[in-house]
Amino acid sequence: MQKIGILGGGQLGRMLLQAAANYPVETFILENDEQCPAAHLCHHFVKGDIRNFDDVYNFGKGLDAITIEIESVNEDALEKLEQEGVRVYPKPSALRTIKNKILQKEFYKEQQIPSPAFVVTKNLAELRAQAGFLPAVHKVGVGGYDGRGVQLLNSPADLDKGFDAPAVLEKMVTIHREISMIIAVNDKGENVLYPPVDMVVDPRLNLLDYQISPAEIIEKTLWKLEAIALAVVKGLKSPGIFAVELFVDKGGDVFVNETAPRVHNSGHHTIEANYSSQFDMLWRVMLQYPLGNTDAILPAAIVNLVGAEGFEGEAKYQGLEEVLAMDNVFVHLYGKKQTKPGRKMGHITIVSRDKQDLTYKANRIKNILKVVS
Ligand code: ADP
Repeated sequence: MQKIGILGGGQLGRMLLQAAANYPVETFILENDEQCPAAHLCHHFVKGDIRNFDDVYNFGKGLDAITIEIESVNEDALEKLEQEGVRVYPKPSALRTIKNKILQKEFYKEQQIPSPAFVVTKNLAELRAQAGFLPAVHKVGVGGYDGRGVQLLNSPADLDKGFDAPAVLEKMVTIHREISMIIAVNDKGENVLYPPVDMVVDPRLNLLDYQISPAEIIEKTLWKLEAIALAVVKGLKSPGIFAVELFVDKGGDVFVNETAPRVHNSGHHTIEANYSSQFDMLWRVMLQYPLGNTDAILPAAIVNLVGAEGFEGEAKYQGLEEVLAMDNVFVHLYGKKQTKPGRKMGHITIVSRDKQDLTYKANRIKNILKVVS
């Protein structure tokens, strides 16, 4: 039986392990927090820091393959493991490119992949000299996620909100739609694409609000999305699973926003709504089995369940019974004991042939279900 490790024990690791139960595989988690969402679903829990060279190297050296559920891992250790014959998904070289927003943007430019124009700023002083580039979006090079490393700069008065660290300043796009394309690539370089996902972002939290898949887009735009997302993944030259986030503007032009080299929040509906989920697919890739079927069984919506404003402490789920009583609604709680405002605590998937039913239920669930303390 193959031994496969996951760096990080959050909800992505948890859902990966749920899918692993269907396969002959022995699973390992490296994570500091013994109470993390993935801790009790793996065969072997190893306490350690995913950013520390020795912890990652020692964790990985007896394994057949290793993957990540978050980008902030020690890629030097992954590189050494790769040299010693451990299969790493994604390849450390691809992870290095993606992990740093500056390198990621330079990669798009080199590969002639459409992505908003940008300049690199090393610190606040350099940013202040770029008033002429506004309106723009400032994105910190390393360490930002879930909107925390992104600042919208509309006018020169906003410049002080930027990051005093290496970052990219990117032209602001007038976004018509935000689409996520999930693509799996196996060791042979064969790939499969999931249907596009329409992501609706909460402007206040800068966090995904709800999403619908398959996104309703005209064929010509879909072709562009597919071609550009595939170009990103081909350029990265790595097996694994990737989520390419793209903007579509009013004129139908498509730009890459960013890429995640792992299972992604925008693919959670695939558990119920597609024949092979993104989690199932990654096991197929890592265990070197045939790729799965990405087709949608039914259209789906996802609502993220985040900690309500004003509540911090032991999590309680208000309205859960009412949501569970709804038809074709699937509740996923991540098993986090503590809630705080904006923390991702779970998600709800709705499937329905009728798109109006999806948005109606998504909005109802957002009003009914609250994580409080
Ligand atoms: P994160 O990795 O933290 O999710 P993103 O790079 O996806 O950060 O940015 C968060 C959100 O900010 C995006 O979903 C989008 O709504 C907005 N955004 C990012 N870049 C741009 C841009 N160039 N123009 C307009 N809006 C943007």
